[in-house]
Parts: sequence; structure tokens; C-alpha cells
Amino acid sequence: MVDNTIKQILQKTDSIGSEIRVQAWVRTKRDTKELVFIALNDGSCMNNLQVIAEKSVISENVLHTLTTGASCSVTGILVESPAKGQTLELQALSLEQLGDCPSDYPLQKKRHSFEFLREIAHLRTRTNTFGAVARVRNALTIAVHSFFQELEFFNVHTPIITASDAEGAGEMFQVTTLPFETFDSSAGIDYSRDFFGKKASLTVSGQLSAETYATALGRVYTFGPTFRAENSNTSRHLAEFWMIEPEMSFCDINGNMDLAEDFLKYVLKYVLDNCEEDMVFFNTFIHKGIIDDLRAVINSSFTRISYTKAIEDLKASSVSFEYPVSWGIDLASEHEKYLTEEIYKGPVIITDYPKDIKAFYMKMNGDGKTVRAMDVLVPRLGEIIGGSERENRYDLLLDRIKEQGLNPEDYWWYLDLRKYGTVPHAGFGLGFERLVQYVTGMTNIRDVIPYARSARNCDF
Ligand code: ATP
Ligand code: MN
Repeated sequence: MVDNTIKQILQKTDSIGSEIRVQAWVRTKRDTKELVFIALNDGSCMNNLQVIAEKSVISENVLHTLTTGASCSVTGILVESPAKGQTLELQALSLEQLGDCPSDYPLQKKRHSFEFLREIAHLRTRTNTFGAVARVRNALTIAVHSFFQELEFFNVHTPIITASDAEGAGEMFQVTTLPFETFDSSAGIDYSRDFFGKKASLTVSGQLSAETYATALGRVYTFGPTFRAENSNTSRHLAEFWMIEPEMSFCDINGNMDLAEDFLKYVLKYVLDNCEEDMVFFNTFIHKGIIDDLRAVINSSFTRISYTKAIEDLKASSVSFEYPVSWGIDLASEHEKYLTEEIYKGPVIITDYPKDIKAFYMKMNGDGKTVRAMDVLVPRLGEIIGGSERENRYDLLLDRIKEQGLNPEDYWWYLDLRKYGTVPHAGFGLGFERLVQYVTGMTNIRDVIPYARSARNCDF
């Protein structure tokens, strides 16, 4: 038998008066002389179901052991609640305890710091905040797939282990079965003895593989794990994160920007429509006003400016940034925040970056100095999406590969895409956890993924 969840029970007033069973964990318990009030939560939603039991229904023993965090199974009659702030409650006919929860349970207290909760990541999902994050993250996953499926993009599973250290973004984690002794040899490492017969790593992006599919199926997207040995300890970088990467044939940078903007608006709207209760929680306790902020973004049109204009804007402001601004620099998070929060007051898409700070595969502009890159920046976070129109001209791509000191032989298959039926194409990457951060208002990226991996942190 599968019982209804508390979410289902609270939504369906048609079971009022009937006998139901609920299995859940105790959030709080208090008793009067004759009655026991137990707030039960089963994780299906933020709301608790209030159980009212006469003391005679509960054994003397259970009355003591049914503490915060304990689990139980309750059968009772669902009735309308006379109490304020809740619609229904359960009048218990019988109550069986399933699991104890002794007094050293770390979640006894009402409030804990996020730092403390990171140390008990196996339990933190039982708190209101982390339960809500998990449910919103789930809704965002569905939203991502339905956005692309409605537009008839095909989902592609690109490899996690890769031999191309290609992807050109960030530091890679190596994958090897060679014994450690091999690494001490001064003669260098003989990768022909390794599992794949060559050096292999965990992927930093599915893009290059996605391009091969886009040039066959037209429009595709990936949604998979990505690994970067980021040594910086920031609130928006993880060593393992999930990335969504659409790739479209017959599309230029303008189509790419349109897609990115539509996509963000779609997923924001999906969450506001489907996770109301959790969003009200974030709006009240995590980031006041976030619901209105997100609504405003859905109804706005994103500012689109060139990198050159962004640099001019930053220079024109009389702010003294920690990293001085000049044409050619990579924008730092302080610059991204200033553009989105102070100047344009909303999302900004920046295009046409200097070629030297962007990857080899981005399409060269006529000026020979800039490439058709686009980054989508949002208030609070900075970069949430990075993408580009791809270089689709064989010779120019080959030049760029060489210019960046890469070996053209490693890219023979990637170059083939420009040799056989090349087409204009474009795509972008969205860090899924940055999206979850943006939607929930959670300030640290480690709090929006179940088990965060970052430098010197791989517990649980
Ligand atoms: P940043 O400059 O913020 O480090 P990036 O330019 O290195 O990001 P891209 O290579 O453009 O990132 O990757 C595409 C997207 O993936 C980024 O816009 C961001 O949303 C996300 N992303 C990149 N690195 C990380 C990371 N270490 N942890 C979480 N998300 C990331
Ligand atoms: Mn980027």
C-alpha cells in the first residue's frame, strides 16, 4: 500500500472524515493533561500535518521516546482544524513508533548556521531550508527538460571521461589506473600503460561532443555532471557541478541570446508557478523580495551590450574597483555585480569579448580582436551562463587551435565538423547550481547541491 503524502493530504479536502494513515517524522511534540499534539513532516512539502492524540492512544513508553526527529506511523481521522494557520488535522486512532531519535540528535534546535549544517550534510535535508532547496532543485530539473523538449531539442548524454583536454575551460581531474609509483619516475609517465592507453580526465564541459550531435540532429542539449579542479574557494564555484548545454545548428549569436533569455524566464516562471510554498519560505527567510525580483526578470527584457561598452560603463563610473578596469581584462565578479545591480538593474548579456580571454572555438569577429562570445550576468551572482557562436570556418578554427598552443591532431574529429557540411551554430552552458542559487537566494553554492565537492572537501 502506498499512502498519500502529507502534501497530497493537505491538498485534498475530499478525504475529510475518512480514515487515513500517515508515516513521517516528528518535528515538534507538546502535550497537555489529556492530549498530545504532534507536528509531522514527511518531506513532501514544507507544511507539517498536525496530529492530535488522546493520551490513551499512545503507550506510556512511546510518549517518552517520540521526540523531535523520531519516526512514526499514525492512523486517524482527517478533520477540519479549528486552529489558526492550518486547514486540516489528524485525530489519531492509533500510533506506532518506527524509529527513536535520542537526545544527541543535532537538529533539536530550531535554527542552525549553514556552516554547521554543511558538517551534517546527511541530515540537513530534514530542515525547512534544505528540504525547500531539494524540492526547488527537483522542479528546476523538470523545467529544464520541459523547456527544451517543448522546443524539440534532443537530450544527449555526453561522456564523463574524456581524453581531450580540449574543452579549454578550467583545470581537469585526471582519471587513471596507473599505480602511484609510476608517478615518481623521473622518466615521465608512460600513459600507454594506463587504462585508456593515453591520458584521460573528467569532463569540464559536454560542449564539443554536443556539437557533433547538433551537426546531425539539429538541436540538442546536455544536462550532466561536470568537474573542474577549481582551487578558488568562492561561493559560486564547485569542483563537481551540473551543467546544461544546448547546442543549435543554423543559429547565430542573436538566436543564442534569445534562447538563453527565453530559457531563464521559462524556468523562473515554472518555479514560481509550481513551488509556491517553498518560494514563500525563501522570500521570507532567505532573501526578502526574491519573488518580486524574479517576477520582474520574467517581465523584463535583458540588456544586451558589448564587452567594449561594458568596459566603458565601468570606467565611466567613479568606483574604485579592487581589480582595475581596462580593455582586455576578464570581468571579475565585482564588475559583473556592478553592471547588473547598479547600472542596468537586472540581467545583462555581454557579447564580443577579446579573443585572448575566451576559448579557441568561439567565432572570430571581422575586427580580428573580438569573438562572438556571450555571457549572461545576473544580480547577486554575476555570470550564470557562458556561451558563443562557434567558429564554423575550417581554416580559422585551425589557426585558433594553433594560436592557443593546442595540438590540431587532438581535434581532428572536431575539425571534421567544419570539413563536412559546416553550418553556423551556437550554444551555451548554464551552471545548474548557479541557477538554483539565483532562484532560491541561497548565498553559498555549497548549500544548493546535496553533497558539495570543493578543494579539501569531499566528505559524505
Ligand atoms: P566563472 O568565470 O564564473 O568561473 P567560467 O567562465 O569558467 O565561469 P564557463 O566555462 O563559461 O564558466 O561555464 C559555463 C557555466 O558553468 C558558467 O556560466 C557557470 O554558470 C557554470 N560554472 C562554471 N564553473 C563552475 C563551477 N566551478 N561551479 C559551478 N558552476 C560553474
Ligand atoms: Mn564563462
